[in-house]
Parts: sequence; structure tokens; C-alpha cells
Amino acid sequence: MKKIIWKGPCGHEWVSPIHTRSLGHGCPYCVNEAVLPGFNDLASRYPDIAINWSNRNLPVTPDRIYYRTQKKYWWRCHICGNEYYRSPEIILRYQLNCPYCVGTKLAKGMNDLTITHPELTKEWDDEKNDGLTPDMYTKSSKKYIRWKCKYGHTFGLQIRERTKLGKNCFVCEAEYKVALPLFLVIRWMNSAGHKAMVGTKLCEMQVENLYEDVGLAFEHEYFSQQAKMLQLDKQAALREKGIHLEILPKAKDPPETVMQIKALMEKYGIQAQDEPDENNAREDFFRTKDRLLRENIQEREMDTMNEEMKLLLKLLLAQEGETEAGQRTPNKKKLAPEPVSGIDYPPEGKPQPRNEKEYRDNDFSNSRRELYPDHTNNVSSVKAVPIWEKYALTVPEAAAYFHIGETRLRKLIKKDHYANYLIWNGGRVFIKRKLFEEYLDGENDLS
Ligand SMILES: [Zn+2]
Ligand SMILES: [Zn+2]
Ligand SMILES: [Zn+2]
Repeated sequence: MKKIIWKGPCGHEWVSPIHTRSLGHGCPYCVNEAVLPGFNDLASRYPDIAINWSNRNLPVTPDRIYYRTQKKYWWRCHICGNEYYRSPEIILRYQLNCPYCVGTKLAKGMNDLTITHPELTKEWDDEKNDGLTPDMYTKSSKKYIRWKCKYGHTFGLQIRERTKLGKNCFVCEAEYKVALPLFLVIRWMNSAGHKAMVGTKLCEMQVENLYEDVGLAFEHEYFSQQAKMLQLDKQAALREKGIHLEILPKAKDPPETVMQIKALMEKYGIQAQDEPDENNAREDFFRTKDRLLRENIQEREMDTMNEEMKLLLKLLLAQEGETEAGQRTPNKKKLAPEPVSGIDYPPEGKPQPRNEKEYRDNDFSNSRRELYPDHTNNVSSVKAVPIWEKYALTVPEAAAYFHIGETRLRKLIKKDHYANYLIWNGGRVFIKRKLFEEYLDGENDLS
């Protein structure tokens, strides 16, 4: 059969039998039916893929194959040195990098968790993972694992939830969210040149963070409903002393909290030299927590502590057993030098969780119990305060105190949400005792 050299308008030259050309075939390189080095080969099109070409493929070289061929070849990662077998087409279609570097394939001693995330390996709970070890997984694994943070809390998360999403111990995170607003405030106030007095007694009440020079005080919102009420009483009493007590609720979304604190500080006209961000606060928090644990500092040693440490110790103690807002009695329970018992204690009689879902539910309720002890335990060291000494009352309390039906009270509240005797806190309404008394005095008919 006679062969002819063709030259296309594209500039390529090729050889083919005379009859195929007459059937309308054009340049085979332009339709990728043949490989022309420098035009449609892998080496020239995708040098960053060709760089991983393995010698196992010899004598085939990357300048001899079509750049998007479906034929599989060996690759030797130029970063980690591991080999894998794949077609260029798949690599291109899925934008795949070396599976060992990405962590979808395990090479023990090279890309297992002990190598890539040694700090996480330390939190692997050796007792609760049925003999599984961190060198059996890569950072991308979806394996659900039990972890134990260095403060002794145990919790469960998938490996990738920790490595990719940065999820952390639930209890530590919850504590951090309570502390975050105050840590931001302290940093901000420090930067503006104001020093806090921590745990100062002011007319028989302990004030957590007082800046007397500017007439401001800051506290995290207390945990139990009862303690919250007492905190409102304290707020009212301080107001009479010319001090505004700002009660800071737990951070729901840390970046948003940073903005809220910024707005708050601006409202009070306090200007920081450098505005704190979330990283500052997080570092402050965990560094302080570490120091507290390492040095096993007790409340009586408060004098030697900086503001953050005092604050955090208070906070941790408050969680262990909240005392009343006004007169905090020194907490007998010591901050454990050993990790505290952790939250992984299934209550007696309750069966051990069997699977990931049960574990997760269990962790959730345990972390709530840890953080809000008196919600679930019914053990509260809050001293009962007689209703008539309280500043604000819940609706049932007010009903009992004023001898008005709860339904009637709620009708009144509905009628005027913004009445001066009402105070709203987190969607809950309280009735200011004195002002409501005054209101009642002026009303003859409540119906
Ligand atoms: Zn061509
Ligand atoms: Zn690699
Ligand atoms: Zn923890």
C-alpha cells in the first residue's frame, strides 16, 4: 500500500496510506490519535505530573504517551518517594495528588498519624480503642476514635474531624467558649492601660473583674438559673454604687464574639492599642489552663496570679460547684493535679455506648453535665435567698410573692413586653420586684 507524507494546515506532518486521507481523516495529532512529542505528550503538557514518572515504566517515557491516556502507569512521588499505579486521565480528571501525601493510602512509618500529627497521637486513648493504634491510620481516615485530652476529658471523633476540621475536646471547647468573652475583655482593657481587680469584694459581693477607674465590671454569665438571678441582683446593687456590671454570655460563634466585644468596648469608649483576636484569646486560655494544672495552684494563692489565671481558676471552680453570686465561699474541692476523672463515666446502670452514634449522644450529655453541674445533678450549693430579698423574680416566684395567678401575670407580660418592671434575659422574662410593687400600687384592676 502506498504511503504518503501529509502536511495539515495545523503545520503537523504525518504519514498515512493514501486511501485514509480520502476518507476525510485529518491530522492524527490534532485529534489525539497519535502522540507528537512537544505537542500532545504528557511531558510537555503536564510537566508537574510527569515529574513523578517511575522508572518501572521504562522503556516508556512521558514524552511518548498521550497526556490524557486511560492506560495506567507507575508513579513515584517526588515528595514522599512512594509509588502508585494510575492513568493520567484519572489523575487529571480528579486532580489527584499522591495518595500517600494526601493520606488516602497508608505507608506505615511514612504518613501514618504518628508521623503527620504527633501531637494528636498523644491524645489517643490507649484503653478505649480496642487495640487500634495511631500508626494504623492516616490523617484522612474517617475512623471514629476515642480520645483523651491532656486535662483528662475523654471524647470521640473521627480522625479527619480532628485533622481537617480541627475539632477538639468538647469539654475544653465548652469551657473556652464561656471564657472567651472575658479573655477578650481582659486583653482589650490591658491594651488600653486598665488593670482589673479580680475577685474583689465590694459591699459584701464578690465581683469577678472590676475596673474601678472606669466604673465597669465584667463577669461571665453564671450557669444555673438560680445563680443567674443572683447575678442580676448583684448587677442592680452595683448600679447603685455607680458601677456597671456587664454580664457576658457564653460565646456561640467565636469570630462573632470577637466583633461583639469590640462593639462593647467601643460603646464604653475604651480604645485598645492592638485589638485582640480569637487566636490571642485561645492562646491565653490554654496557656493559662496549662499553667493552672501544671502548678496545681489553689484559690488561696490568688495573690501571685495574673488576671487570666485568677479568672480561669474562678471559672473552673464555678463549674465544679457554683456558689452564690454574692458571697462565694472558698471551694473545698481542689483543682486536681492529676487529670480530673473526665467525662467518660457512664452513669451507673446505664449501658456502655456500643457505636459511634451512641457514643456521640453520650459525649454530648456528659459535656453538658460537666459544664452545667446543677442542671442535671440537682446538687446545688447555691444558698437559697428569700424571695423578698431578691431583685428580680421568675414568673412562678412572682405569682407566689404577689398572690397573682401565673396566667394573669403572663397576660400582663404579653400586654406590655417593655414594661419597666420586666427584664428579659436570654428569652426568659423576670419581674423586678420593687418596680412591679410600685406598678401594682398604682393599679386598681388587674384584669
Ligand atoms: Zn495537526
Ligand atoms: Zn507523596
Ligand atoms: Zn478537655
